[in-house]
Amino acid sequence: MSLRKDEAIVLSKRAYGESDRIIHLFTLGAGKVPAIAKGAGKSQKRFANTLEPFNHIRVEYFDKHGRGMVRIDNADLVSGNNGIETSMKRMCSASFFAEFVDRMTREREPHGRLFMALKEIIAFARSKDPAYPDILHYELMMLDILGYHPNFDTCVFCGAAIDDDEKVCFSRERGGILCGVCSRSLPHRRWSPGLIRGFLAVKRRETGFEAPSLEREAQELMEGFMAYHVDLDLKSYKLLKSMVF
Ligand SMILES: [Zn+2]
Repeated sequence: MSLRKDEAIVLSKRAYGESDRIIHLFTLGAGKVPAIAKGAGKSQKRFANTLEPFNHIRVEYFDKHGRGMVRIDNADLVSGNNGIETSMKRMCSASFFAEFVDRMTREREPHGRLFMALKEIIAFARSKDPAYPDILHYELMMLDILGYHPNFDTCVFCGAAIDDDEKVCFSRERGGILCGVCSRSLPHRRWSPGLIRGFLAVKRRETGFEAPSLEREAQELMEGFMAYHVDLDLKSYKLLKSMVF
């Protein structure tokens, strides 16, 4: 049995029996690790409030088999989740990204950059209400890290460069924009001029979309893209949509 030390973000927590808790940790060194915290429900002192969702903690755990569930031995708070509970927008945003990371990664697959991205959006949600461009920025950042980013730069089929003003055809199936030539023969949807420029600006964290109608189109494009390429029914998404978008 080996004792490991790591940093982690708590993705979720649920009761297990009367006094134990099952915690999904997203660790810096080992990625997603399911863990049991024995006695966490019985004694308030044992883990105090360190194992609450969205907390960033330092954790020591016993990893008996190198797979499956580990047992949390000790946990200290690095930064708590305070601030997130002050609004539903913050709660929904943090829940969405925690579920996103939980569902998009496999157990014990380290993702240092994803850890940093999650830490950043949680810190954001502790201090202010995220708006749609904030959500989209981190969603694109995470998709990029995981290798699923839509191609908004060059024609996804032939690789040709396209002027920003002419980036209007998007192929959901191929996951990117099409040039004028390829759009003649490949299925796609035409979007408003300015939409893709908006995506690029949000990605670079410059501005949002020029008009509310473009923001709605962006949601629609992303929903179609995610449904086709990722196909996860994220429970938290619907709630997030009703609260933030
Ligand atoms: Zn092309």
